[in-house]
Amino acid sequence: MKTAPLFAAWIVAAAVALPPSFSAAETEWKAGLASVKITPEMPVMMSGYANRIRPFERVEQHIYAKAIVLEDRNGHRAVIVTSDLIGMPSWFAEPLAEQIGAKTGLKREQIMFTWAHNHAGPSLSMKEAPGPGVALTDAKNRVVYTKWLQQRLLELVVNANTRLESAKLSHGRGVAMFVMNRREFTLKGVILGVNPQGPADRSVPVLRIDSPDGKPRAILFGAASHNTTLGSKNYDLCGDYAGFAQHYLESKYPGVQAMFMLGCAGDANPYPRDTMEATKEHGATLGREVARVVETKLRPIGGPLKLVFGHADVPLMPMTKAELAPLAANSPSWQIGNAKQMLAMLERGEKLPTHFRAPIAVWQFGTDLTMVALSGEVVVDYVYFVEKALGPLNLWVAGYTNDGFGYLPSARVIAEGGYENRGLSSGDGWFAPEAQDAIVAKVKELARQVGRSSDAARLSAAVAPR
Ligand SMILES: [Zn+2]
Repeated sequence: MKTAPLFAAWIVAAAVALPPSFSAAETEWKAGLASVKITPEMPVMMSGYANRIRPFERVEQHIYAKAIVLEDRNGHRAVIVTSDLIGMPSWFAEPLAEQIGAKTGLKREQIMFTWAHNHAGPSLSMKEAPGPGVALTDAKNRVVYTKWLQQRLLELVVNANTRLESAKLSHGRGVAMFVMNRREFTLKGVILGVNPQGPADRSVPVLRIDSPDGKPRAILFGAASHNTTLGSKNYDLCGDYAGFAQHYLESKYPGVQAMFMLGCAGDANPYPRDTMEATKEHGATLGREVARVVETKLRPIGGPLKLVFGHADVPLMPMTKAELAPLAANSPSWQIGNAKQMLAMLERGEKLPTHFRAPIAVWQFGTDLTMVALSGEVVVDYVYFVEKALGPLNLWVAGYTNDGFGYLPSARVIAEGGYENRGLSSGDGWFAPEAQDAIVAKVKELARQVGRSSDAARLSAAVAPR
């Protein structure tokens, strides 16, 4: 009797040559790639869980930021930056976009910042003063790291922008079964738990970038789960499941740059969680699935590339002093901060903001792919809203791009309650149930501007190979 090997090679993949692309599309693209290690060279506080009050203790895996510059036949250029970071709020992203613009000529709509929302990485801040749970030295080190990081990201884009070579693009889709809805219903309300019946986007969008002879150069892929396999007791720095998935692909296909882009993961966690073993296993699971997809017959992507960047004016909940006072005194811990800050603003005679300006980007690749890049911690409902608004075909819906401002809940999530209603991370407000209407209206408007219509999507799908 044959015995199966005890361990499949799923942690470190054996290197193989990725077969040439099946895509018959003409080479009508150019692509430039760059990657930079962004592991802090000093002790830096970790991000994502409020309980951790000291820096990371060891490096399990280096973390990276990566860039791909794409140019269509007309010379229209765009860059996607991916990163094993917690997030890039506008105070980080906008000055960086300006510096990139000054060095490369790229305008804001040509730049897409993304992050894996990694909870096993460094936190970012420009505040040098100590705060709750943050010692003075740690606060200062964090500012030094944040400024250093901005410079590395600037160089990253400049480098990718000077390395353009002819390329072919193609895309496909897989599935990741470890993506779990985390809004668990209990007699005490919705808690952060496990809800196998809840909605989740388990799709794995994949973009393959080849040289003209079909030799692979890069793989951009997504999944829609928080990078929170490692929990709040973890002090080992790494890229969580997304870091291990990228590592899996880059080990399997030497010379290929693997890049991860998060989906609408606001209410999804990996399942199971809390161990390094589970983290590596999810990474290998996702890596294997992406490898499976890139070796199947992918759909070629043609140009031209049309880019648009705008802002939705997203309504916030109107609140009075009388409504805020009890919440500031006695609401779930994750809501108290905003309640106190809003109450203090009203007591100082200031007005609460009525809206938040959330950036949205829509990138149209010929008639073959529409990338909708939403900002904030977008809950899964927005995938369905965007599919309904634009048609579900040839669509890549990303969250966590361009501005990290906190969670973006849907009217359903607001009505049901739970952690995803913690409001703007600035502390200035909570989103109103009409937030989703403002986002969807803006997505539709931007999609029209780049020539995406639901009819066009259906038509292109009808004639494209399956
Ligand atoms: Zn989060």
